[in-house]
Amino acid sequence: MVSDPTNLTEPQANTGKKTNHKHIVIIGAGPGGLCAGMLLARQGFRVTVYEKNAVVGGRNRPITENGFTFDTGPTFLLMKFVLDEMFQRCGRRSEDYLEFAQLDPMYRLVFDDRELFVSSDPEKMRAELRKAFPEGDAGFGRFLSQEERRYLALYPCIEKSYSSLLDFLSWDLLKALPQLAIHHSVFSNLGKYFKDNKMRLTFSFQSKYLGMSPWKCPALFTMLPLIEHKYGIYHVMGGLNKISAAMAQVIEEQGGHIHTSSAVASLVLEGRKVKGVRLASGEEILADEVVINADFAHAMSKLVPDGILKKYRREKLPGKEYSCSTFMIYLGLDKCYDLPHHNIVFARDYQTNTDNTFVHKALSEDFSFYVQNPSVTDRQLAPSGKSALYVLVPVPNNLSGLAWDELQPQFRDRVLTALEQRLGMADIRSHIECEKIIHPSTWEASENVFLGATFSLSHKFSQMLYWRPRNRFEELDNCYLVGGGTHPGSGLPTIYASAKISSTLICQKYGLPDPALA
Ligand SMILES: Cc1cc2nc3c(=O)[nH]c(=O)nc-3n(C[C@H](O)[C@H](O)[C@H](O)COP(=O)(O)OP(=O)(O)OC[C@H]3O[C@@H](n4cnc5c(N)ncnc54)[C@H](O)[C@@H]3O)c2cc1C
Repeated sequence: MVSDPTNLTEPQANTGKKTNHKHIVIIGAGPGGLCAGMLLARQGFRVTVYEKNAVVGGRNRPITENGFTFDTGPTFLLMKFVLDEMFQRCGRRSEDYLEFAQLDPMYRLVFDDRELFVSSDPEKMRAELRKAFPEGDAGFGRFLSQEERRYLALYPCIEKSYSSLLDFLSWDLLKALPQLAIHHSVFSNLGKYFKDNKMRLTFSFQSKYLGMSPWKCPALFTMLPLIEHKYGIYHVMGGLNKISAAMAQVIEEQGGHIHTSSAVASLVLEGRKVKGVRLASGEEILADEVVINADFAHAMSKLVPDGILKKYRREKLPGKEYSCSTFMIYLGLDKCYDLPHHNIVFARDYQTNTDNTFVHKALSEDFSFYVQNPSVTDRQLAPSGKSALYVLVPVPNNLSGLAWDELQPQFRDRVLTALEQRLGMADIRSHIECEKIIHPSTWEASENVFLGATFSLSHKFSQMLYWRPRNRFEELDNCYLVGGGTHPGSGLPTIYASAKISSTLICQKYGLPDPALA
């Protein structure tokens, strides 16, 4: 039963701010919606979040089966300082809500003929490079220093709103233009430092975090491996899903309300002006501002009536470029494998596999995959003596036309064979106690992800910055976007940045100061 949003309690005394009575409705309790919710509730807005699922977190929510807990999506926490800042902006410390574990080594890379343990400790990393590659660590120092320069120049541009052309043509961006290396991909850019293809893959497979091919992903995203090496990567005890649970707690502590199992059926509009939302139950909720966290293209195609949108109208959406999808298997095992926390296994022919996924939209016999074995770090995720294993295979998005409901059993079998053959888990089939699969059709039908493109709109230049759907949504009034489909893009830190940008824009509209650090 949805409670009356006009009957909201005042924010508690610990907010440190007065209520300003403006009502903000947020569609979706994913990382973007929750982060915006906590920042706005901190500013005294009346915040109400409507989430279609029974649990908060979206693709960052837990899957629980037979005593096992799996993260649905994110397993790498990069740029922890961005998350910390969001809590600080609410007068809190992330450490009071979450227990972090920095991982060293960060992950293990498995090629057909060698493997290496990637570390954010530069000396350990140099030793690994010397062990794995004839060219050794020769280019590593230059990679660190030159890519750090690029990252430092570009970071201020990530944090900006591109609501107008004037914002876009900012001094920060003009200064950073040479760092964009517009004509280079991540893979070609790495040729400046490393000769060996596998060495380049060691620093370019991270394009897959955006659901992109390293041969197409713009060179500026070489900042992803740089960020890993500069700041390290973190696990959160209990799973990264705990971050979403903590953000939900902060919203409620500050007087906001979250309604789970409450799908929004459409926006309530007066011309181009958003007046509120209509729930699936038929109830209409009025709002001063609406923040959309649901997957961008899904929201445009399902929540906005026909005839309103131009740039992002229904027929135009499939013509945009989207990320790949993923085939997921979550396995509850009755034993623990001696396998590192994060394992990235490269297809023997990585380029063909990548082209199949992104260009030909076809499956490969020989495919790359990622396996998370978090039970080696975190005993909360499985019953004693058992382990929770997460397997992700990048596959084409639903433009492929693949019939996943029919393909699922045979593809599952191929994934288990790959675990047996590439990771030495020969007896895995006999140790499965429970399992769950999410495939591209599930992402689309049950998780409301357009085309099952799990990392949203592709991050090619013409869909970034001023050209990405804007935080203050350009097609509707009183409407803001947060999450992977808006600026700055997919990935937890950038999603939190989108929440910061949108909530700052809303504060500015009501004459509130830029929410300064508490
Ligand atoms: C398999 C996978 C692995 C990933 N790994 C990483 C990683 O390691 N590190 C990282 O930083 N990022 C990772 N990401 C990317 C990204 O961080 C996550 O996808 C993140 O959860 C996206 O957050 P979001 O807020 O944009 O959207 P979502 O998490 O999808 O949240 C949107 C919410 O809106 C809700 N919703 C949709 N429609 C409606 C409606 N009509 N009414 C009400 N609610 C609605 C949904 O149920 C959902 O809760 C990964 C993503 C996936 C899919």
